[in-house]
Amino acid sequence: MAYEDMPKPEPKEVDEKNWMVLQQMMERAVLKGEPYQDERCDNCLYYLDTTSSISYCWHQQIRILVGGAWWCQWWEPIED
Ligand code: SF4
Repeated sequence: MAYEDMPKPEPKEVDEKNWMVLQQMMERAVLKGEPYQDERCDNCLYYLDTTSSISYCWHQQIRILVGGAWWCQWWEPIED
């Protein structure tokens, strides 16, 4: 089958369900794709790998991959 004849990819039902769940979580967390002043995910206590531009947030209300420049209301400083 030629590439042009292949059906266009479309989101499946599971993708729409995942999106709804994530949207609800984003709203609860006030999760934004940009920093809030100096507060950002990659200088937050819950950001697992501060050397990476994308990492796992282990806050019990988040638990997804987040971008280093993102922010949410549960930001906490990294303790010494
Ligand atoms: S708690 Fe919020 S600010 Fe901190 S890493 Fe997770 S999503 Fe980012």
